[in-house]
Amino acid sequence: MTRLFGTNGVRGVVNQDMNPDLALDLGRAIGTYYARRKEKPFIAMGTDARISNHMLKSACTSGLLSVGCNVEDLGILPTPALQYAVKEKDYDAGVIITASHNPPQFNGIKVVDLDGTELSKEQEEEIEDIYFSKSFRIVSWDKVGQLSAWDGAGELYIRGILSKVDTEAIRKANLHVVLDCGNGAGAVVTPELLRRLGCKLTEVNCELDGFFRGRPSEPVPENLGELMERVREVGADLGVAQDGDADRAIFIDEKGNYIFGDQSFSLLARYIIRGRKGIVVTPVSTSSSLEEVVTREGGKVIYTRVGSPIVARVMKEVNAVFGGEENGGLIFPEHQYCRDSAMTIAKMLELLAKEEKSLSELISELPRYELVKTKITCPNDRKEDVLRKIKDVVSSQQDVRKIDDTDGVKIYLEDGWVLVRPSGTEPIFRIFAESKDRGKAEELADSYKRLVEDMVSTS
Ligand code: MG
Repeated sequence: MTRLFGTNGVRGVVNQDMNPDLALDLGRAIGTYYARRKEKPFIAMGTDARISNHMLKSACTSGLLSVGCNVEDLGILPTPALQYAVKEKDYDAGVIITASHNPPQFNGIKVVDLDGTELSKEQEEEIEDIYFSKSFRIVSWDKVGQLSAWDGAGELYIRGILSKVDTEAIRKANLHVVLDCGNGAGAVVTPELLRRLGCKLTEVNCELDGFFRGRPSEPVPENLGELMERVREVGADLGVAQDGDADRAIFIDEKGNYIFGDQSFSLLARYIIRGRKGIVVTPVSTSSSLEEVVTREGGKVIYTRVGSPIVARVMKEVNAVFGGEENGGLIFPEHQYCRDSAMTIAKMLELLAKEEKSLSELISELPRYELVKTKITCPNDRKEDVLRKIKDVVSSQQDVRKIDDTDGVKIYLEDGWVLVRPSGTEPIFRIFAESKDRGKAEELADSYKRLVEDMVSTS
């Protein structure tokens, strides 16, 4: 069966694969799924700032109402703010219309469960099954759902974050922050949160714009030139950029340097673990710098397959104190089990207020690793066979210290590691190689690329 849900909900180009028909039937399917648990499910609905939001929201809402769900429209808000509202209030689920960091012509539909977490693969498959078989619930005219609206979700979310950080210390530190929301949904709450934390605020791209005119939505270095320049220009203590639906945050130090997500992750992990220990959860693709930092502080890292819902689920199971991904998507369990950029920003401000060092100094204290990424094509139906062969070959190699098959195969060597991971969406293997030495990382990536190529051509 074709899959509808990708790694981050259902996504596509508007009025091509992501159209009102799909949104309508998906609304019916989601509603039918939740109606199996409860007679009249109450669904929270939100959107990011894209111009196709109203079209898709209306269609999806119509589908939900038609199968007997009540729907509450929470308006434009960050994905984590919707998740927080679902967790804190009496909603049975949430739906958010967003394509995260994708370009403006894309949009998507993402479903959030009762506790605010993203759905498991099994839940998504059940919804897909209803969608493709069109086995929608049918209700009589008097059971059709009702639509309400609530504009308090942003305030609820801001207060939730303020209650989980040392606001007094942050206010006293009087930090100057340059905030770049990338014209995305973060703009609805993040400037207000920073003002309430007593920050001096310089805004970049903090107006909502469904065309993302300020910059492309993905917070990668090439898209954050303006932010880096502004940080230097105004002499700020830090800069921060959010992606389109504000679940990820990327930081800029006071000198205007881009801080990669694994570095801010390691820095926050050190701060959270220190004097407390505990478990930090992350996918196998994350830099060893995290493990080095966490182990040094007496904590432990548990690795998962790639994907933030999996990280969140394992965090719950092992009662982790922190977790996240190397792309700036961090999860604070005392707040909620999903990636949350505004919470990440507030925690980073608390760290800066308490550590009394500049962000660049703090980053320079972290271990440095070099990561090289490459990929090779391989038909989907041969991936498993190739993986098995790679495992066979490497298990007999002298220099291999450990093999981990949590997601693809991760090979630990004397001076680094290599991860060979089948993509879930494309006919390719992704190869990650990490070492403290750049040359070594490149060498590892090259040699394993050749090995995988051999396996693909002979299998
Ligand atoms: Mg996102």
